[in-house]
Amino acid sequence: MPAAPNDNGRRDILVNDRYRFEDFRLISPLIFHEILHHDNKSGPTEELILHALDSLVFAQQIISTPHLAAAGTELTRIQNTVLMARINSGIDSHLTLRAANAPIFPNGIFVPNFSALYPEGSNGTPGNIALVAIMGNMQNPETKNSMIADFDSDTLARLYENQGLAINQIVRAAVILRLNVDNYY
Ligand SMILES: [Zn+2]
Repeated sequence: MPAAPNDNGRRDILVNDRYRFEDFRLISPLIFHEILHHDNKSGPTEELILHALDSLVFAQQIISTPHLAAAGTELTRIQNTVLMARINSGIDSHLTLRAANAPIFPNGIFVPNFSALYPEGSNGTPGNIALVAIMGNMQNPETKNSMIADFDSDTLARLYENQGLAINQIVRAAVILRLNVDNYY
């Protein structure tokens, strides 16, 4: 759940007890997400950006340890579904957020693209040093110290241009999720 200030003014992240038996690697996308919230301000644009990013963290976890995707637990199934939506929200092999080759939940509820899951508000929210570092690493590590990054349309545009995973990683994650990747070979 979101990090909230404790009595010392520091922020705690509480993990729901129902996930106490989950593999810690499945918790890592959640910790990543909650650390980035950073303050009491949040909103749809911040949620869209964080889910766009935490799905990539999950992708990296299953690429290195594929059996995590087949654990069958609640957390696995949620994260598999979000990553499937993220991978399906693309033009050809390029991950996007606002477009897709086809509905992102095949044979399921119609959702046109990933961003439709988190309808954007008009106002962004302040970023933080962790977001700056992550966006810098996705773009160009040499420029990360000079970057600013807020949860806003500029960062969404950067996510659009810098998908964070190489094509072979996207295909690998899709294979692990048992998605149809015939068109990529
Ligand atoms: Zn959140």
